[in-house]
Amino acid sequence: MSHPICVTCGVQYGEPRPDCPICEDERQYVGWTGQRWTTLDELRAAGHRGRVEEEGPGVIGIGSTPPIAIGQRALLLRSPSGNVLWDMITHVDDDLVREIGELGGVSAIAISHPHFYGTMIEWAHAFDAPVHVHAADRRWLARPDDAVEFWEGDTLEIADGLTLINAGVHFDGGQVLHWRDAENGAGALFSGDIVQVVQDRRWVSFMYSYPNLIPERPRTVRRALRLLEPYPFERVYGAWWRKIVEVDGAAAVRRSAERYLRFALDDG
Ligand SMILES: [Zn+2]
Ligand SMILES: [Zn+2]
Repeated sequence: MSHPICVTCGVQYGEPRPDCPICEDERQYVGWTGQRWTTLDELRAAGHRGRVEEEGPGVIGIGSTPPIAIGQRALLLRSPSGNVLWDMITHVDDDLVREIGELGGVSAIAISHPHFYGTMIEWAHAFDAPVHVHAADRRWLARPDDAVEFWEGDTLEIADGLTLINAGVHFDGGQVLHWRDAENGAGALFSGDIVQVVQDRRWVSFMYSYPNLIPERPRTVRRALRLLEPYPFERVYGAWWRKIVEVDGAAAVRRSAERYLRFALDDG
């Protein structure tokens, strides 16, 4: 069965439909030539292939070449308690599943927010893995499936030392993942575009909408900062290839939030 995939956001739906609610939302946009759909078969026939490259110690990037839709890459965290797939892409094929299988497969999947839902159910089925999504984003689920596990509250430890934090920036259910044992125990944060690593990779920022340039509410940024406070981390892995804060990540997030709030609250 060929489930429809939105060309603009790359999210796969369970059933055909005329519109993509994720793109109709003010945080995204409908493609300039109108709503268009594709399928995995069409993408494979068009020559998309998996791309697997190390992004950091114990962290493998998974994307596609050429990129699809928003073009983010996912990350495979090689934890001793089982690999966790953080975030999601649209592409998947037998070669990619085999390659990830050789790296130990996937024990659990967690996704920062709806723009990156991609083909999460295809990946969940390929590896018989649950998908952890925050319940505040329940309405955006494009392909309902028993593999999806909604959670509520501020934090959830999905494996030893791997904790989801509902930072709530960008989407109410927006979540980041903290890996305590990464970087020889210094920790790492996997931030999607909830805490966005920017071009100057010593900094991050916070937006309600990236394509439409709508800034995030200061109170939401403050709440995220408060929730992140107890977690030490050296690296911050953003959502695109090489978008990584390499040193002193926790201080970079704090400094960046302070700069953001200084600009956002200066009305005169
Ligand atoms: Zn869409
Ligand atoms: Zn997004």
